[in-house]
Amino acid sequence: MAYGSTNRFFVSLWTCLLAGSLLLVNCVLVRVEAARKTDASPSVKPGDDFYGYANGDWVAHVSLPAGQHTYDNRIMMAEQTRERVRQLMQESAAAHSQPGSVAQKVGDYYRSFTNEADIEAKGFAPLADEMGKISAIANRSMLSAYLGTTLTREVDGLTANSDHVFGLWVHQGFEDADHNLLHMWQGGLGLNESGRYLDNSFQAVELRNKYQAHVAAVLRLAGVADSDTGAASIVRLETGIARAFAPDSDAADVFKQNNPWKREDFDRKAPGIEWKGYFQSAGLGQQANFLVWQPSAVTGVSALVGSEEIEVWKDYLRFHLIEHYAKVLPMSVRSEDSNFYGKILSGAEAPDRAEEAIDATNGALGEAVGQLYTRRYFPPEAKQRAQAMARDLLTAYRNRIENLTWMSAATKEKALAKLAGLEIGVGYPDTWTDYSTLKIAPNDAFGNMRRAEAFYHNRDITKLNQPVNPVEWPLNVQIPGAVIMFSPNAEFFSAAILQPPYFDSDGDSASNYGSAGAGMAHEISHSFDELGNIYDARGRLGMWWTDEDRSRFHHESEQLAQQMDAYCPFADLCVKGKQVLGESVADLAGLLVAHEAYVLSLKGKPDVEINGLSGEQRFFRAFAQRWRRVQSEPALRKQITTDTHAPGEYRTNTVRNVDAWYEAYKVAPSDKLYLKPDARIRVW
Ligand SMILES: [Zn+2]
Repeated sequence: MAYGSTNRFFVSLWTCLLAGSLLLVNCVLVRVEAARKTDASPSVKPGDDFYGYANGDWVAHVSLPAGQHTYDNRIMMAEQTRERVRQLMQESAAAHSQPGSVAQKVGDYYRSFTNEADIEAKGFAPLADEMGKISAIANRSMLSAYLGTTLTREVDGLTANSDHVFGLWVHQGFEDADHNLLHMWQGGLGLNESGRYLDNSFQAVELRNKYQAHVAAVLRLAGVADSDTGAASIVRLETGIARAFAPDSDAADVFKQNNPWKREDFDRKAPGIEWKGYFQSAGLGQQANFLVWQPSAVTGVSALVGSEEIEVWKDYLRFHLIEHYAKVLPMSVRSEDSNFYGKILSGAEAPDRAEEAIDATNGALGEAVGQLYTRRYFPPEAKQRAQAMARDLLTAYRNRIENLTWMSAATKEKALAKLAGLEIGVGYPDTWTDYSTLKIAPNDAFGNMRRAEAFYHNRDITKLNQPVNPVEWPLNVQIPGAVIMFSPNAEFFSAAILQPPYFDSDGDSASNYGSAGAGMAHEISHSFDELGNIYDARGRLGMWWTDEDRSRFHHESEQLAQQMDAYCPFADLCVKGKQVLGESVADLAGLLVAHEAYVLSLKGKPDVEINGLSGEQRFFRAFAQRWRRVQSEPALRKQITTDTHAPGEYRTNTVRNVDAWYEAYKVAPSDKLYLKPDARIRVW
């Protein structure tokens, strides 16, 4: 549970609150037969089927292995990057690097994690200290103080259900961009989602029974007496915690998370926990201001600390301690754990130890691995080239915003200020995390994980007294991804996503702008659309569109929904224009802006011809190749029914709204994709 305890709030949290979208990539193995150099099908007429023209050959040569439903660029990049990272970690583990260097730390973390014999030999001994502290708890004030020691940042970042009863995140305030504040949110449920405790359907009851058996098994393995009674009490206690959770629907509404509490509010509003001792042992004795995301959880859990038997809490803490460190404990616990969390809860296969070691090392030493990764795969020249592209995109946005017809003059001023304040991080951070105080030892998997947690906790506490750093990277650069942080006003594109086929630092500019450029511009547009218009230039909450802006924006974009509605891959199923509208508008903005930026990058000079294609043609073809994907019919149907992004073929058709595409490919009124000039939609 300590690593990779992903849950469905993770994406929506980023999507709706601090970020616009997080490109989470699953690693799926597929076979690509004889990948071709161009991937295009010149026999298809661009004006009739632009997606087919750009991707036909690629699609024809990719086959999905049994059991897999989708394969696309992102999966391909994730697999390739994962292989690189695996190699870097294994090389570091085999090398005798300078003690204290990032390579030594990465290597020893990975190696100790994969040294299963050593982990087995140590048994449960590494937990003895903590187990002793739990056993010594004799009253509520000791219980409160112990709970305080569990208030640490979760290694896997922002999750709505933190691993402990409360999770911590140090970040600027919702309305205060000058100070780092302490954000606190709910957690402590072994089943992750509160609904799983409260639902009385047959399946939910069945799942709870299996969970209770799992809890008992773990307690038994750790030698806890009367494990069956303990397990029943733990599930009952967690059910109480689940009742205190905020409703799932709140997760999408950032205004509901903005609950400033003073230190004394905890005593007043949430009796039960002795908060003084709690915060003192969390290292936060001096902290005066907090942001409580789900007040009901703080009140509810605190009441349970006051009312529930202390022995029940002690069993709860023992169980969650073991779970938290399960990955670095003996096989007996690990297989019990992967049986429940893998097979039963998510239907996953037993994890491969090397795969787990990669995730664990990325989690504990993300920017150390990032340094090794970028040294080899994303040199400073690549970063400079991506930065130059980002600058052109910003210039193009400035022009576009100035000329928008639906935005009022006063709102434009705010939009331009927000654009001027937007930080764009590409590739990797200018300053890496300094790991010099974090000791990573060979053959000490448990100790390494503990020290990494303490390192991040200390860093968080230090951050509380430092000014907000708007360019702190929220994602690992060795994982393909992009994150919009609306708060602060910043966007990040990892080195791993800035690689072919999206971006080639030694390759053709026109293709880079059409692919990665359009992707970056898509993300930037979210800062100015209905997602981003509740955050200002410094990431503070507050609507800056007027009602008039909103209704004119809706009016402008309505036609695009109609355009999307007309795409029907099946006789009984068409794209749902309204459902995909927000993302389709962002696609259009992305393409228009990236094209303008491409033209700017040429500085008035004509582009060269490559393999018979003009720069303009390569730009649009690269855009279409962004969206190539092979998927099964059920996967495609599911995407159309549930996803806010249209299938790639129709995202490609965004080109129909761009005049330059008609010129580049000599698209004529007789062609199937042709739209009359007045039917082409702009919005941006
Ligand atoms: Zn988007």
